[in-house]
Amino acid sequence: MISFNVPEEVWRDYNWQIKNRIKTIGELQRYIRLTEDEVEGIKLTERLYPLAITPYYLSLIDPEDPGDPVRLQAIPRRAEVDEKVQSAGEPDPFREEGEIPGLTHRYPDRVLMSITTFCAVYCRHCMRKRIFSHGERARTKEEIDRMVAYIKEHEEVRDVLISGGEPLSLSNEKIEYILSRLREIKHVEIVRFGTRLPVLAPQRFFDEKLLSILEKYSPIWINTHFNHPKEITELSEEAVDRILRRGIPVNNQTVLLKGVNDNPQTMLELFRKLLRIKVKPQYLFHCDPVKGAVHFRTTVDKGLEIMRYLRGRISGMGIPTYAVDLPGGKGKVPLLPDYVVSRVGNVFTFESFEGDRVEYRIDELT
Ligand SMILES: *Cc1c(COP(=O)(O)O)cnc(C)c1O
Repeated sequence: MISFNVPEEVWRDYNWQIKNRIKTIGELQRYIRLTEDEVEGIKLTERLYPLAITPYYLSLIDPEDPGDPVRLQAIPRRAEVDEKVQSAGEPDPFREEGEIPGLTHRYPDRVLMSITTFCAVYCRHCMRKRIFSHGERARTKEEIDRMVAYIKEHEEVRDVLISGGEPLSLSNEKIEYILSRLREIKHVEIVRFGTRLPVLAPQRFFDEKLLSILEKYSPIWINTHFNHPKEITELSEEAVDRILRRGIPVNNQTVLLKGVNDNPQTMLELFRKLLRIKVKPQYLFHCDPVKGAVHFRTTVDKGLEIMRYLRGRISGMGIPTYAVDLPGGKGKVPLLPDYVVSRVGNVFTFESFEGDRVEYRIDELT
């Protein structure tokens, strides 16, 4: 753990956390002895994939451990710009960029709104790494209005997912404007925020005004992004608790990342801890083929091994859906270890969580 000598009320201030983000080698070296790989990584990615880390997220790093899971997610390494890593990925494998800037309409009933390129921390494994180099820019009112007009015209849209960048980095006024416009649309049933602030700067949720806005425009859901048990801290737990008390469910999407969480015991601990803070693990995503991030990819067998390990060790509530996102904007597909060993007509041979073979005849009563 790295400590910052500031009074507690300063540490608990979101704006202070954002204003004091660590963005340069020099600043970072005051807290961590960087490896050669990292120094070079930061220099080589400077304009391409900038660096920013909140003091809070930095404080979770063990400065003695070059393989620290928070460090790997936050500090650039040379691999990001390696020829192999660059050419093995695409900037936008999922064709998110469409006709209306910021809007992706992939599934009939759901749309994705990307409302800013700003993030509290630039995660090195980000699936939208292509937007890092666009600078920190929120969508204009005109752009938001165009997205809202599209949603209004498409009555099949029942679910609006607001993402970014970091959507809850916008001012309370802007967030309220977007929510109030969406709530004018009768067919929009739920609104979701994809936010990593509970992990990167949980102080954002100590703002009662923001919480009141989110509560006012209910039903609102939050999807967050915990990747490692050490990201679950007293402060992130407090943030989640404050969100839940306003009637807002919190789901989690983990990404399977090499060196960070690619082992069964770490994942089990993460999902147990999430249940303890009342966050439901929703997805475990296989790492996407995104330009500049493929060095985090594991095999699919690793993901399946983890899924198999979880069954029987944690409640079904704690087991997410393991999924890959298909290139070309074809959507997400779930992956599951195979528990059906064989099948003859209605007679199945299953494998139990303990590895027993069990024959089971399943007939329909006619
Ligand atoms: C992932 C995604 C969604 C939401 O999918 P859920 O399974 O409902 O979480 C919606 N739109 C796009 C473009 C997505 O990538």
